[in-house]
Amino acid sequence: MEQVDCIVVGAGVVGLAVARALAMSGREVIILEAAEGIGTETSSRNSEVIHAGIYYPANSLMARFCVAGRRMLYPYCAEKGVPHRNCGKLIVATNEREDAMLAGIKGRAEANGVEGMQVLTAAEAMAMEPNLLCTSALHSPATGIVDSHSYMLALQGDAENAGATPVFFSPMVGGKVVGRRIEVDVGGADPMTLACNLLVNAAGLHAPFLARHIHGMPLDRVPTAYFAKGNYFTLAGRSPFSRLIYPVPVPGGLGVHLTMDLGGQAKFGPDVEWIDTIDYTVDPSRSDSFYAAVRTYWPGLKDGALQPGYAGIRPKIVPKGAPGQDFVVQGPQTHGVAGLINLFGIESPGLTASLAIAEHVLEVSRTG
Ligand SMILES: Cc1cc2nc3c(=O)[nH]c(=O)nc-3n(C[C@H](O)[C@H](O)[C@H](O)COP(=O)(O)OP(=O)(O)OC[C@H]3O[C@@H](n4cnc5c(N)ncnc54)[C@H](O)[C@@H]3O)c2cc1C
Repeated sequence: MEQVDCIVVGAGVVGLAVARALAMSGREVIILEAAEGIGTETSSRNSEVIHAGIYYPANSLMARFCVAGRRMLYPYCAEKGVPHRNCGKLIVATNEREDAMLAGIKGRAEANGVEGMQVLTAAEAMAMEPNLLCTSALHSPATGIVDSHSYMLALQGDAENAGATPVFFSPMVGGKVVGRRIEVDVGGADPMTLACNLLVNAAGLHAPFLARHIHGMPLDRVPTAYFAKGNYFTLAGRSPFSRLIYPVPVPGGLGVHLTMDLGGQAKFGPDVEWIDTIDYTVDPSRSDSFYAAVRTYWPGLKDGALQPGYAGIRPKIVPKGAPGQDFVVQGPQTHGVAGLINLFGIESPGLTASLAIAEHVLEVSRTG
């Protein structure tokens, strides 16, 4: 049986960041990816927003890794030539109840260490964004957008330069714990078994399923996977706003917000649709609720202007209606298996947080 020091399962943004960190620390790394290339699942089906770190409960992993990851991501993108823009965002209130919520959101953001948050009057916000209608707003200057695929290519390049090897069409189909090593069964055209000292499960939506198929991993430590789809609709023509525009958050997500890509194409979404199986189809009839939601802050949205775009699926580990979840990074101290690190529930802000998650995984790999 072939031996390798570390195996990272999944070449999404998190798996690539982890592989990069491990390889740059001098470890031998193989990245097993079931698909034909990097980032074909959640990492290419998101809003591509560099989140400031506003909403997450103080001291949660999401809060810590979002702020730390964002502070690493801007300089990393600048250094590597990854297209990005620190465009800022407005969280907009459209009635008195929402006006009252902004101070609480600002307080939470400041507790998380987010810089520069400022409450604006309706006149101030609408002077910044003339197409906007609101009763007040919260400005987050630290928020931005990034080309996620270019970012992943940069991570892959760093990882490979440090000696890591990505292997595509190579799903991990199961494994077993044997003493202090883990034997990993790889499917695909040339099935084989590899033994490793460290296995990082960064399989995104499939991470709980994969953990359950590692013989020796205590099943009671594996969360149930739930899927919350987020649908996007794109706007014909250029974005009417130069900043990202978010309503105040709704249960399960951040509300139907406007983001844009670096080419200026605006998109609205994601909404929240709980589903049982992975399916990325966007139902055109969902646009009705988008028109209603968007017109609360952009009354100028014309009938017929929205087209079905794409969808992503949030890797939830709590069911609909349950209180919000946090990232879960499970090392040997949690589950008792030497050399196994599981990443569960890495939904938003996982893209922003990826460099910080990778540093944390490196730390757990050293200390247990
Ligand atoms: C709708 C939506 C919007 C979002 N918006 C933002 C945002 O604006 N900003 C932000 O910071 N974050 C955002 N996120 C979160 C972010 O996209 C994710 O946290 C991040 O992409 C997760 O990356 P990952 O590497 O963990 O998972 P993935 O990208 O899903 O990668 C997992 C990889 O593992 C592979 N894999 C699975 N099983 C196996 C196996 N058995 N063997 C081998 N390979 C396997 C898959 O093929 C896949 O390539 C959003 C998420 C969603 C759903």
